[in-house]
Amino acid sequence: MLISSDSALIQPPIIGSQSHLDSVLEISLYTLGFEATYRVIIPAFKDRRKRLQQLAIALLPEDTYEGLQIATDRLLDQQAFATVEALKGNGAEVPHALACPPWTVYHCMSLTPELADALYEAGFRDVDGLDSNGETPLLFDLRGSPSRGSDLLNLCIWFSKKNARITQPAPKRHDNESQMMAAHWLAYRLGNFLKDLFFLEIYMEHEHSLAHLFSIAASEHIHLYWDLVIFLSSLSTFDDCLCSCSSSSGCSPFSKFMQGFIDIIEGPPSWVRIPRHVGHRERRQRIAEWMQEEFLFQHHDHVLLVSRDFIRFETFNELGLTHTCCSYDGSWISQYFRRPCETESRDTREIEHVQLQELEHLVEEFEDEFEKLGQSLPEFLEGYWKTRMAEVLDKSKPVTEEQVRRVEELGVVLRK
Ligand SMILES: [Zn+2]
Ligand SMILES: [Zn+2]
Repeated sequence: MLISSDSALIQPPIIGSQSHLDSVLEISLYTLGFEATYRVIIPAFKDRRKRLQQLAIALLPEDTYEGLQIATDRLLDQQAFATVEALKGNGAEVPHALACPPWTVYHCMSLTPELADALYEAGFRDVDGLDSNGETPLLFDLRGSPSRGSDLLNLCIWFSKKNARITQPAPKRHDNESQMMAAHWLAYRLGNFLKDLFFLEIYMEHEHSLAHLFSIAASEHIHLYWDLVIFLSSLSTFDDCLCSCSSSSGCSPFSKFMQGFIDIIEGPPSWVRIPRHVGHRERRQRIAEWMQEEFLFQHHDHVLLVSRDFIRFETFNELGLTHTCCSYDGSWISQYFRRPCETESRDTREIEHVQLQELEHLVEEFEDEFEKLGQSLPEFLEGYWKTRMAEVLDKSKPVTEEQVRRVEELGVVLRK
């Protein structure tokens, strides 16, 4: 009734604010559910945006209207806020019912593929429209709540099908934030999600059926997630970090994927009680096996690319080197990738320069051997790589007093 009497869809106090929380779509989804949102709220949005555009055509000077660059093949969305501002700037009175926030209809925290489809069908096509923070809806979702799991990934798949820009740079929220793109964020979230699935599998072996149900629900779309991993691993886009864990100087989306999955610090999700022995090494082997089963066995052009990055990343970790690339830092309101300051990073690299050189030699050797042996990635990791790393690590261990005593017993004189 309120809508038919032209009530405002946006509360005047939030217009121009940075909070997306009060969006009418958000509230409507929570209070009315999808059906009512679809039947009542979306048509109301559509009607009002059309009226706003007609008002702009009627009242704005031609060059001002042209300057707004409103596309003709879609409903007014990304430029809706600017249109209202332009009308006001030209002394026009804009009815409250036509007020707009500085973001698109897709900048909605509870957006689902179902709702996104409904909006798209209604004529809202600015899937890459920027909000007042300079974020596309994809970035807005990826940098939002980290706990959305498969819901978030399903939405990202929807955006990628609509050709949303995966290489859109993420505007910096902090001075020490690395210069990332949507692709890096997506890769990290994917890695994190698969890590949770990995722990779920272990949990299921030890515990009961709830985890099993969750796992089935998640694995329904798992092949789509792996398709995303394939796509992301082929992207040569890097941030502005400097760390030898990735083959280029900056982090690639694939190195962020690896960090999300293998992250040494984060460990299992808090609700999982894990046997102590399941750690970094098991995860490494499991992810290699998973990748082999899911795509490496059939995407031969990816084998070398992915395996090289994988081997480098894990050789780096196994040598115990310190990452100087960005690391995930976040609360529930603001997540970002923090870069260590330049002096800190330079000092670390200087202290570890001998091991870094060793890393480069080893990576070269592993790449050659991997090509020569023609094995799968998991086979290589369990075979040549493991043996060689054990040798290297054994050599670099400090000599114990016990070892010195035994050598001296053999009659060898050691120089101290
Ligand atoms: Zn690193
Ligand atoms: Zn980085």
